[in-house]
Amino acid sequence: MLSAQHWIASLPCAVCGNNQTKIIAKKDRNGQPLTNVMCVNCGLVWVDPQPTIECTEKFYSSEYRKQYKKAFQPKHKHCYRETLRAIDRKTRFLSVYRDGMRVLDVGAGAGFFAYVLQKIGILIEGIEPNEEYANYARSNLHLNTIRTGFLRDLTTENQYDLITINHVFEHLPNPREAMVQMHKLLKKGGHVLMEIPNIEATYHAPNKIFHVGHLYWFNPNTIRALALQLGFLIDDVQIINGTKHINIVLTKSDESPASEVEVNSLVAGNAETISKVLQQHTLLRHFLTPAPYGRFLRKSHQYCKEQIDIKKFKNAKDICDSVCSKLLSIQNPK
Ligand SMILES: [Zn+2]
Repeated sequence: MLSAQHWIASLPCAVCGNNQTKIIAKKDRNGQPLTNVMCVNCGLVWVDPQPTIECTEKFYSSEYRKQYKKAFQPKHKHCYRETLRAIDRKTRFLSVYRDGMRVLDVGAGAGFFAYVLQKIGILIEGIEPNEEYANYARSNLHLNTIRTGFLRDLTTENQYDLITINHVFEHLPNPREAMVQMHKLLKKGGHVLMEIPNIEATYHAPNKIFHVGHLYWFNPNTIRALALQLGFLIDDVQIINGTKHINIVLTKSDESPASEVEVNSLVAGNAETISKVLQQHTLLRHFLTPAPYGRFLRKSHQYCKEQIDIKKFKNAKDICDSVCSKLLSIQNPK
């Protein structure tokens, strides 16, 4: 558990360096105390105070999956869902991937994304801090290119053509350092393909948003501003339907990073826009829209289908193989 005794006091904004913040939430999605603040200059949101690096790394290497998924290893339902997600992400991946690229998946989890890509003949490498999940990828899915460790453990520069990082960046204790590290690891002209939650999303009820593991929250402007300052060009930004997650493609640039003036002009008015979205996203408004009811019906249908599908199999790899053989053959007819 991330414990408050290990947390460090307020720190300047990781995007613009400003010290002025305002509190936007005092509880997490489970009703536990958790303060999130927003930079009044640029709109970046973060957990304040932050846990120390040591505390965060211990949490992700051994405790996060247990706390978040209630399991040391992925349960059958997680294998099923993660395989579906990986197949969905494959489409976006293939829009950036070219033959022969060396790819690193940061926060590879139990390896389902790498496994799905292997099924279509693409071998990627991965790094995963959780020992049990990385072991699972190696022993159950036979993915020997998934290693245990953190992004900052990788020291060899100019190695990769493409880094994928899906729903991981928001968990990292130092987003500037992580962005710099990805820049170093990439070859000239290499890409980052990232998916992160969006602070402007109103997909979940307002009391079900903040989570102890999500240390930073971005919107399209703040993630752009961070990447531009640290030597990336922005190739593409897409907002995913429904969840409003941000999908962004970056390219390692040779040009001078964006100046402070450019960054400030990109985020001008952003904090006010985010504040307005959060203020308007009330419980009453949320439950007066059809979205939560539609989501409940879709999820109920999905869980029933999932229970029927996974009952036929005794182990997780068979579930994963079955989903892949159904969906990959549909998506890639011979
Ligand atoms: Zn800021």
